[in-house]
Amino acid sequence: MVIMNRRQTIPKHLRYTIMDFDRQFPDVDACIEHLKEQRFPGGIAYCAKCRVEQKHHRIKGRPVYACDVCLNQISPMAGTIFEHSSTSLRLWYYAMYLMASTRCGISAKQIQRETGVTYKTAWRMFKQIRSLLSETDMQLEGEAVEMDESYFGAKRKRGEKRGRPSKDSSKQCVVGVVERGVGKGRVFATVATDATKATLHGIAKERILPDSVVFTDDYASYNGLDAEGYQHRRINHSAGVYVMGDCHTQTIDGFWMLVKSGLRGVYHNVGKHYLQTYLDEYSFRYNRRDRGNLIFNDVLQRVCERAELRPALVNPEMPVSQEAAF
Ligand SMILES: [Zn+2]
Repeated sequence: MVIMNRRQTIPKHLRYTIMDFDRQFPDVDACIEHLKEQRFPGGIAYCAKCRVEQKHHRIKGRPVYACDVCLNQISPMAGTIFEHSSTSLRLWYYAMYLMASTRCGISAKQIQRETGVTYKTAWRMFKQIRSLLSETDMQLEGEAVEMDESYFGAKRKRGEKRGRPSKDSSKQCVVGVVERGVGKGRVFATVATDATKATLHGIAKERILPDSVVFTDDYASYNGLDAEGYQHRRINHSAGVYVMGDCHTQTIDGFWMLVKSGLRGVYHNVGKHYLQTYLDEYSFRYNRRDRGNLIFNDVLQRVCERAELRPALVNPEMPVSQEAAF
């Protein structure tokens, strides 16, 4: 099994402890100020009234900033996952910190226990944060990659065989590709409708660069990958062979184990509907495992990158979102 980081301690320059968090974000104002700096550095933002970039200043006691010239207000939370949420921004930041700092996943129960929010609120926060972590446009660049499918969900029924489930099984097929090689090692994992040749080849063509070496097991759906322009090498799992020299799928197997033990231990059961967002969460951390605790910064950055690009206007006439507030 591939362990994400064998060292017990994180190198100093990659460390960001809960004490660091408390120092950087002692209160909700610090979080609002931080978010503002991420989205409108120096308070400079487009003012829809002046129709130019203007400096904005904080309105005391409110999470908004006003144009220095015309006093038109903008909110750094507009268009982000925090908009319309009545949960304190500091709690959001803390939830992101927890999710970024864990190896194996974090349960909504834990943040409920630690902070006193309701379970529903905690669960919704994690769901929203997870929704930012997908890497749908990721192209794998390793010269060699491992590809494998795995199955998630309900336990095997009595008499059901190990291995690939039958067609009517309630298990969900998931396909993963991981890069090999120093400095790479990123994973891409997606929920798949099935494990047919068409599906698996489609995912390969979409994610793996031509001419790459592709390691798979001997499952028939991988047949013909060489005809697609890959150097296909396979290991005969059905004959009980798991490693032959560099021919193995141990890296992607390690990732599956990490996700499965996390989902079992932390999330208990995950509905099919949400499985992709959990895969995204695990992949996001896995792909940044050399970043130590600084993954938190990457999550914060995602919040801003994925914020809707619309004027961050605060308009009292604006209809209240129909989504349930936290
Ligand atoms: Zn203005």
